[in-house]
Amino acid sequence: MIAEALHTILKELPPRVKLVAVSKFHPAEAVMEAYGAGHRVFGENRPQELKAKAETLPADIEWHFLGHLQTNKLKMVLPYASLVESVDTLHLLEEINRWGAANGKVIPVLLELHIGAEKTKQGFTEEEVLELLFRADSFRFIRFCGLMGMASHTDEEDTIDADFCRIADFFAYLRDLFPELSDFCELSIGMSGDWRIALRHDATIVRIGTAIFGERA
Ligand SMILES: *Cc1c(COP(=O)(O)O)cnc(C)c1O
Repeated sequence: MIAEALHTILKELPPRVKLVAVSKFHPAEAVMEAYGAGHRVFGENRPQELKAKAETLPADIEWHFLGHLQTNKLKMVLPYASLVESVDTLHLLEEINRWGAANGKVIPVLLELHIGAEKTKQGFTEEEVLELLFRADSFRFIRFCGLMGMASHTDEEDTIDADFCRIADFFAYLRDLFPELSDFCELSIGMSGDWRIALRHDATIVRIGTAIFGERA
């Protein structure tokens, strides 16, 4: 079933789009089922769970971290994650940079942009992202790889479309403004309910959980 769901989605994705199979709350067996079907990129949102899975599952898995990250949990995430997609505060970015310096490792990150209607949603404002990228040089152990965003929680396609439009436009603007940031090329938008809409806005990464693994326990 997992393999079938994966293949159905992969068939529709243009080759330039990376599929992150979001395995949070699902057991290692579910990850291994997708792995057996050839998939290698998985997403987790809890530090402990990422660490536990990364330490026991095959080493050629590429793990993305997508959750809220507290600065006292960096050591459970940064040794394992190929990409931290959910950097949402300056303080977190500074602490990741500090960890990178101490461990001699450059950490690839996406900046999470607040685009949805919900006030509770995490993420930077456009102004904050601009301010931060103007001094990207000062984060020597951070590799800025692009933006991540979550659309409003709604079934209204127009609203989701507008949310993705906004982040895609801002992403294009940043790419023009900061050509020296040569790794700034990923736009991570689209989840189980809205990834087809995200493709219309040039997503380069989609993060899909439920549509692959079923409902989370
Ligand atoms: C859980 C999660 C997803 C996957 O959500 P689904 O609706 O199950 O596809 C994607 N992105 C983030 C940031 C998540 O936390």
